[in-house]
Amino acid sequence: MKTLVLADHDNKVLKDATLSVVTAAAKLGEVHVLVAGNNCELVADHAAKIAGVGLVLLAEDAAYEHELAENVAPLIVNLMSDRDAFLAPSTSTGKNVAPRVAALLDVMQISDILSVEGPDTFTRPIYAGNAIATVQSSDAKKVITVRGTAFEKAAREGGNAQVEKIGTTGDAGLSSFVSAELSKSERPELTSAKVIVSGGRALQNGENFHALIEPLADKLKAAVGASRAAVDAGYVPNDYQVGQTGKIVAPEVYIAIGISGAIQHLAGMKDSKTIIAINKDEDAPIFQVADIGLVGDLFKIVPELTEKLPG
Ligand code: FAD
Repeated sequence: MKTLVLADHDNKVLKDATLSVVTAAAKLGEVHVLVAGNNCELVADHAAKIAGVGLVLLAEDAAYEHELAENVAPLIVNLMSDRDAFLAPSTSTGKNVAPRVAALLDVMQISDILSVEGPDTFTRPIYAGNAIATVQSSDAKKVITVRGTAFEKAAREGGNAQVEKIGTTGDAGLSSFVSAELSKSERPELTSAKVIVSGGRALQNGENFHALIEPLADKLKAAVGASRAAVDAGYVPNDYQVGQTGKIVAPEVYIAIGISGAIQHLAGMKDSKTIIAINKDEDAPIFQVADIGLVGDLFKIVPELTEKLPG
């Protein structure tokens, strides 16, 4: 079986999400990685070094610079003529591209897989992660998105795949890139951080969020996350959101501060190794998943905790 993995990158850096997808694809068969972008040869060179990758396909075109699904999907469909499975990470880009590929190939998409049980059988979460479904696909070609936290990351070194430059399909003329407002941060990326400090509605406003959550995150060298209530209220940008409709994370330590633990939030973080919750309501649902719980007022506890930590 031959697979095609969509590399997640920004034309300069190959993102970690790709590594988990390579692991999932390797369970199905031979792994080919598609690097579609503009001036992204360096990314292809990095992809070629990933352990387990057999071939890297490099498609460079201005039309692929921002990985617009309308432009990238036809390229993938062409490449799928002699491949059996297409796998993309469950990132914004992957979740944008995969459905279009599935539609063009006239197959069902298998979303957010947690495991590969066989060549046509996978598990995936349903009901916000409260149940796991085993799904079997009879489609000749599989189109799959992969939950990164469910698969080990393939090693970034150890491979020596050939990089093959391929022809492009150009601009489909269906969409155009206008602008992107990305929050710049020196902190680790949310989906690959070992420690995450997340804040909720209880922070009351953006000033409190920055004044309380960030110093604690700085001391722990942690990424910062947030509940949807905190994001919707404008305390922090949307890309901080953890949960069913945000990012799925599974760090070593997840600290939830002033977050109630709604099912949609838990769906994004309950696989974290150690969960620490700070909440003034001892009956808050977050305490049902927490390994360590601190009942009290965050405005008192968090500054004290930050001060006592070294560094
Ligand atoms: P609240 O539920 O208001 O909780 C605030 C908590 O802070 C309470 O438990 C309270 O006891 C505590 N608190 C208050 N003051 C203090 C204090 N001084 N000290 C300590 N503790 C205090 N939510 C997500 O997070 N991520 C998602 O991806 C997501 N997707 C959703 C998708 C759908 C389709 C829907 C319907 C909802 C989704 N939600 C999501 C929203 C979710 O249902 C909750 O509304 C949200 O998570 C609540 O955020 P919160 O815990 O910050 O706020």
